Amino acid sequence: MSVQPLCQEPHPVLRSLAKPVQAFTDEIRRLGEDLIDTMYAHDGIGLAAPQIGRALQAIVVNPSQVSGREVVLINPVLEAAEGRAGIVEGCLSVPKVWHRVSRAARVRVRGHDPAGHSLTVDAKGLLAIVLQHELDHLQGRLFVDRLSWVRRCWAYARIRALGRQSALAGCG
Ligand code: ZN
Repeated sequence: MSVQPLCQEPHPVLRSLAKPVQAFTDEIRRLGEDLIDTMYAHDGIGLAAPQIGRALQAIVVNPSQVSGREVVLINPVLEAAEGRAGIVEGCLSVPKVWHRVSRAARVRVRGHDPAGHSLTVDAKGLLAIVLQHELDHLQGRLFVDRLSWVRRCWAYARIRALGRQSALAGCG
């Protein structure tokens, strides 16, 4: 078990472009395990590597929250997206802020597992939304950035108010 400290907005790693993983090493396998452990420790349904201070293209998703059904994706690429969907989203890096976000209803994401095997995920429903949320993290984008201008202003006012106590604390 290696639960990592979470980075929270406005930590700069959350705004960086995550780098592609070049080799499927033991370090990448450990990163996958850290993502899983940290996601479960915080009752999340997805997590991206920048959220634990690693600007690498790695995510985990598990909307069922059933241990063992999580999927770690390395170098994930959104191949197809269609339809419209939206739910009220939150983010472990933006605590206590929730907003409805417009997303695609169905997506196809291609990537690799931590051992380097090719993986394609065809998703709809909650899994499709979580995948899009985590892929955004790899582009340095948070869910609040997808809100309308007015809602984004509200969201950032709240983030700034909440963040005065906790910003930058504890994360690498
Ligand atoms: Zn998030």
